[in-house]
Amino acid sequence: MKTIRTAAVIGSGVMGAGIAAHLANAGIRVLMLDRVPDRLSPQDEAAGKSLADPEVRNRLAAEAILRLKKTNPAPFYDERYAERIMPGNVEDDFARLGEADWIIEAITERLDWKRELLARIEKVWTPGTVVSSNTSGISIAAMAESVGESMRTHVLGTHFFNPPRYMPLVELIPGPFTDAAIVSGMEQVLEQRLGKGVVIAKDTPNFIANRIGTYGLLVTLKLMTEHGYTVEEIDAVTGPAIGRPKSATFRTLDLVGLDTFVHVANNVYEHVDDPKEKENFAVPGLLTDMVRRGWLGEKGGQGFYKKL
Ligand code: NAD
Repeated sequence: MKTIRTAAVIGSGVMGAGIAAHLANAGIRVLMLDRVPDRLSPQDEAAGKSLADPEVRNRLAAEAILRLKKTNPAPFYDERYAERIMPGNVEDDFARLGEADWIIEAITERLDWKRELLARIEKVWTPGTVVSSNTSGISIAAMAESVGESMRTHVLGTHFFNPPRYMPLVELIPGPFTDAAIVSGMEQVLEQRLGKGVVIAKDTPNFIANRIGTYGLLVTLKLMTEHGYTVEEIDAVTGPAIGRPKSATFRTLDLVGLDTFVHVANNVYEHVDDPKEKENFAVPGLLTDMVRRGWLGEKGGQGFYKKL
């Protein structure tokens, strides 16, 4: 496996930005790409900007860097780290993926989008480059089937937890085609260079952590509505008061993103046959209604809590 000097992170959302920051802290240069917005925001329009303007085209990735600066106050934030992160977009900068020793896919949790992206990556992929997915639980095999045999051996799951800079766990998920040397090489990179604790998980729906965690959150939502518990009551007994610094139930859901949580729960619902288990992963209407209203959690400014 290549020595990791340059990485690329595709998707600069909640996870992509945090992963890029963590890699930059570890001395790795990172190309961070997102999509070009399909239309100008009203503010850009009012300011007479154009979609041809590179600053507008790189807006999502560049804004992620600004967000990182805000959310990583001193002593965690160091200007040199941000300089190692290069913002770009998947329309203009895709060929630059050829420079990367490790490409991390951190786009929206949808198999069809991830398969399409992998097939596009294959066109610029250089032999030896590792391609990993940060998926919360989508089948690595189903993703890797979208590319030819040679790249497939370099595809695996590296599932970072939120927030990636601070959470020490990474699930490493080999697919059926992944070369054993890539798995052990990535285990070393994650442990020794990125300071993470690695658990190797099977490629089953939602792997280990989200198979258990998603179930727990869905049961909590069910009990909340059945017994009339409030969001505040549940967070009071599942957060700092029991020694979990921030990870109270609904604060966590807001941090994860409610749209992402719905995709993650649906993944098990759609891929298990046992009707009892299916029922356990059915998403309640309360959550789908919130997503429909655009209440996506912290990233949208409103979730179970309103961010002021
Ligand atoms: P997000 O919604 O915050 O960000 C996704 C980003 O991907 C957006 O900026 C979007 O514009 C971009 N994107 C979508 N399609 C793209 C494409 N084709 N090319 C380039 N960019 C594209 O999502 P997130 O929470 O960061 O999740 C990303 C991945 O990480 C998902 O697979 C998710 O399941 C997984 N994950 C999320 C969490 C969490 O707590 N949010 C934790 C672990 C893993």
